[in-house]
Amino acid sequence: MQEKSRRDVQTLIGKVDPPVKLRPAPPQRLRLPPHRLALFLDVDGTLAPITARPEFTRVPLDTRRTLHALQRSGAAVAAVSGRPLTQVRRLLLPLEVPAAGSHGAQIRFTAGRSIRVSRRVPYGLLDALQDGASRLPGVWLERKPAALALHWRQAPSRRDEVRQLAEQFLAQTPGWQLIEGHCVHELRPRGRDKGVALKRLMRRPDFVGRWPLAIGDDRTDEDAFAVALALGGSAIRVGAPAQTIAPWSVPNVEVLAAWLHAQLDTVRR
Ligand SMILES: [Mg+2]
Repeated sequence: MQEKSRRDVQTLIGKVDPPVKLRPAPPQRLRLPPHRLALFLDVDGTLAPITARPEFTRVPLDTRRTLHALQRSGAAVAAVSGRPLTQVRRLLLPLEVPAAGSHGAQIRFTAGRSIRVSRRVPYGLLDALQDGASRLPGVWLERKPAALALHWRQAPSRRDEVRQLAEQFLAQTPGWQLIEGHCVHELRPRGRDKGVALKRLMRRPDFVGRWPLAIGDDRTDEDAFAVALALGGSAIRVGAPAQTIAPWSVPNVEVLAAWLHAQLDTVRR
């Protein structure tokens, strides 16, 4: 092979993502008493199917019933979502669970008490970002309590342009980071992620000492997976095979709902 073409091949190889390892399904039933289990659940793409717009999303009633039954059996259940806390709570009603919203920038431990652990969005830069987003058809900007999300699920071909726009914003806001989620580029302060949220929730009296199981469907959930694993727990990734540190996977929201329901048989014993 000539030197030039070998270099070209190496360049190509260098750009190929490492092979995706297929993760096995979780055991049909966890062999764990409910008072030892702490579930940390993402919402969109995990408990609720992804919809064209976030406001169309619903967590199926059966899933909420299952979570309620798990909770009543003694399992600790928490939601850890990228959505603002108020939306997380509304999606799970009438279920009341400790929850982290905005990727851990907001945490609500018990009824009536929530904390905000993040800096405010730098409003001065919002206009430029809003302008940029409005020039990309199908892309919209969502202002969250502690983050800015550029959604492009209705314009998949705009992904690179959205990334460029986000990076321009990032260059002017030190201390912020860009996280690529499911059809969304999200800007938020560093040091606030789902892993940090999981760790904080695990310090609560009703969670401490339990076996943490983190469940989620996208890149932002990997931080929660890492912390759950570091604490001796495990993780389940929901969705088509992808790079993940989760030891287990399930193919979709429906299979996860059935698996969660199957755990009731274990905890009822
Ligand atoms: Mg999700």
